[in-house]
Amino acid sequence: MDFLPLYFDLKDKPCLVIGGGEVACRKASLLLKAGAHILIVAQEVGAGVRALAEDSRVEIVQGSYAPEQLEGKVLVIAATNNYRVNSAVSEQAKSNNIPVNVVDNPSLCSFILPAIIDRSPIVVAVSSGGKSPVLARLLRSRLESTIPAAYGRLAELVGGFRDAVKARFSSINQRRGFWESVLQGDVAELVFSGKEAEAGERLAQLIEARSSDELPVGEVYLVGGGPGDPDLLTFRALRLMQQADVVLYDRLVSEAVLDMTRRDAERINVGKARSRHTLPQEEINDLLVRLAREGHRVLRLKGGDPFVFGRGGEEIDKLAENGIPFQVVPGITAATGCSCYAGIPLTHRDYAQSVRFITGHLKDGTCKLPWDELVHKGQTVVFYMGLIGLPTICRKLIEHGRGPDTPIALIQQGTTRNQRVFTGTLATIADIIARQEVKAPTLIIVGEVVSLREKLGWQGDA
Ligand code: SAH
Repeated sequence: MDFLPLYFDLKDKPCLVIGGGEVACRKASLLLKAGAHILIVAQEVGAGVRALAEDSRVEIVQGSYAPEQLEGKVLVIAATNNYRVNSAVSEQAKSNNIPVNVVDNPSLCSFILPAIIDRSPIVVAVSSGGKSPVLARLLRSRLESTIPAAYGRLAELVGGFRDAVKARFSSINQRRGFWESVLQGDVAELVFSGKEAEAGERLAQLIEARSSDELPVGEVYLVGGGPGDPDLLTFRALRLMQQADVVLYDRLVSEAVLDMTRRDAERINVGKARSRHTLPQEEINDLLVRLAREGHRVLRLKGGDPFVFGRGGEEIDKLAENGIPFQVVPGITAATGCSCYAGIPLTHRDYAQSVRFITGHLKDGTCKLPWDELVHKGQTVVFYMGLIGLPTICRKLIEHGRGPDTPIALIQQGTTRNQRVFTGTLATIADIIARQEVKAPTLIIVGEVVSLREKLGWQGDA
């Protein structure tokens, strides 16, 4: 290890920054974030640095660097583009034992600045020891996506209970075990879902609890897994997917998305083929309740968004009735995922002022849909579950007054590598499809916006 990472308390401490350009401005801003007072010395003062002067902790001296300016400083950063000045600052700071950083010149530095992920009070620093700052920044962005913004709030909350926990548990091992269960359990989840007050109450309760069997029971995460491409998952979905120890998923969840769940989690396929329900909805609801009661963290993973034709509402209804804690994570629904990947802006203002999501699952072949409302001009209509009913849908729309030449698209397995898009008009699409092997799931988009795809389509397909 070439450099030892340390966290420096700079609150109200005098620091010196030499240079007036953008880099100097960035470094000075960082020092300000940590609470420092700064003297900035620069021949030319750029707009960024000048703006910093509004902060009463910043003093700017326009002119050249002089060694006396080092006096009393606890830290120095040289950010000029003049090597002679930079090396003089470095040498003089070092001989006075003042930590010094010279931007982009590790050999002149006694400390280097890492790439930082700031979830204060949690702060993560990544450094390549000056070898490749870009690599350090790339690593930082990977970490950014795995450390939820709420970790800072969690650290803040538990910080206030440290003494109470110390008083309650005498051994270090007990305390460690306690904190591990708290930080991975429902207290953490309450904070992540914005319920800090409840989290605090729950934590206080846990500290009071006499034995470990009073510790938290399970929870259900109802998570939208999106239309198929795992890159479309939310950060929260991913975090919960990697936390749950049992996963209930259905047919719509793509293999690639399922692969993002924890390796050692138990996976239960409750898949629902259109007319062949692997597990009836009632039984899924009961299973969720039972697993949570057994203390599991249960992931109920749904295709798309759980509240858009997903029956997510019914499942959490049952959980709420039974007093099981749960949270719901939205997913990209098929309509938005497929339309984006097919280059069809659902409400392009030249063509559509509204969009309607509708189920095309025509029960027993009967069509109880409000057809009169679906034929309005300036409206895009998206049918979920409409493949089988496609000929009926087209016929009914024409019968109720939508032009036979209205463009229509059928998107198969949208956002996945197998995405295919078929386009035609209300009059022609049924024949076009009849000659193809179309695989579920498919989404139907009806409206003038479909014609934009010719210009805006950006994904390869049939
Ligand atoms: N909750 C889901 C919808 C469930 S209903 C969501 O928000 O997307 C199931 C229907 O969704 C399918 O019949 C199909 O019409 C549509 N669908 C879901 N994923 C799809 C995909 N990747 N490509 C095309 N259609 C999809």
